[in-house]
Amino acid sequence: MHRIERNSDRSIDEASTATHRVALFSLPAYGHVNPTLRTARELIERGHDVTYYLPERFAEVVEPTGATFERLDGDYDLMDHIDAEKPGTDSTDSDADERRERLVRFMSGRLDAVPSLVDRVAGDGADGVVTDPMCLWGRAVADELDVPTVSFNTSFAMREGSPLIEHLRSSDGGGPPLPSAITDVLTAFDIDDPDPSDFFVADADRSIVPLTREFQPDDESFGDDHAFVGPMVRAGGEQRDAGLPLDRLTERPSVYISLGTVVHGDDDFFETCIDAFDDGDWEVVLKAKGDAERLDAESPGNVHVRSRVPQLDVLERVDAFVTHGGMNSTMESLSLGTPSVVVPQMADQYLVAKQVETSGVGIALDREDPTAVELRDAVETVSAAAYYGAIEEFNASAGAAGGAERAADVIEKAMADG
Ligand code: UDP
Repeated sequence: MHRIERNSDRSIDEASTATHRVALFSLPAYGHVNPTLRTARELIERGHDVTYYLPERFAEVVEPTGATFERLDGDYDLMDHIDAEKPGTDSTDSDADERRERLVRFMSGRLDAVPSLVDRVAGDGADGVVTDPMCLWGRAVADELDVPTVSFNTSFAMREGSPLIEHLRSSDGGGPPLPSAITDVLTAFDIDDPDPSDFFVADADRSIVPLTREFQPDDESFGDDHAFVGPMVRAGGEQRDAGLPLDRLTERPSVYISLGTVVHGDDDFFETCIDAFDDGDWEVVLKAKGDAERLDAESPGNVHVRSRVPQLDVLERVDAFVTHGGMNSTMESLSLGTPSVVVPQMADQYLVAKQVETSGVGIALDREDPTAVELRDAVETVSAAAYYGAIEEFNASAGAAGGAERAADVIEKAMADG
């Protein structure tokens, strides 16, 4: 009902007719791979070759786009590192510190494989690279091959000195500080005199940002080299085997609760969610990690707990979304017309929460561990008409931002300009 209507006018960036072989690098995490999929499909439909270099787990989401999937063997799967973290234990500040340390260790560990990766991508005949700025080996390959490079951001656009970087740097901004260890990793990856912000900013000809300019807090500091193309949500209908009563979600008041694929949530949070809706008035889908089956069996009949949820199929049916404020989850819920209650857990999620509230498309809760009453009140509040109106406005501007068609135009133009 409130979905994005795409603007088919492709005059924003003139497309070229030559075909290209594009190597696409993404940090191996769903929140980084998913936003690139529609653009890959668009490039392929225009006759270009797109090759993703990722661990096996992601073949399932990449192959339906028609892109070539080149498997990265070795210790490349960031999800393994994240999943090894804490099977069902409590989330604490030290978890956040440890998560950052783990990310840094993971990045450093990839350094040795760069020369062979460069050979492999050159051997595949790539004449251009699209890379997530946080995928340091993708940036290293682009640098070595010296081919046109486009940065594909998966969250807010950043630049050195930008208020967003300062916010992430300071703990009193509500987010955790950036570890200085990141600058060591950047140095190891040949990034001269690095500032921690360089982790979020690739040295590229152009940058694609998968949100609207209105959603970017300091958008005036970014020029035409940054294309704010709006959300590019992949197609739904992907995991209908999760055994969820999808019809009931449309027929009754319903809410989907998920803290994403990195933090997941802990037992206390899940119990709070179950308490908030144990009167049976709402149909609830809860994404939990670990023993989701046990939680599901112990929950009242209106609460459905799964370890992996067909998120788009669920989001398009529910009345409200309780989210950690991952940029993908947030953009998906907006595109599918569902207001959010954001319970931020780390990093840019505090900023997403703020922007959600400022844009009027949802509510930000200022605690990572809300009470059952706070959660229930917030869900009832966001399912009111005013929030749907703000989402319609967001989607009008997202439609005009150009989406995957414009992202593909930007890539074609960068490749053509050489
Ligand atoms: N996702 C999903 N099923 C789940 C949980 C997440 O399909 O059970 C997808 C979701 O649709 C989104 C991505 O995983 O595209 C999560 O990205 P986000 O940036 O929201 O959060 P992260 O997991 O990176 O913290």
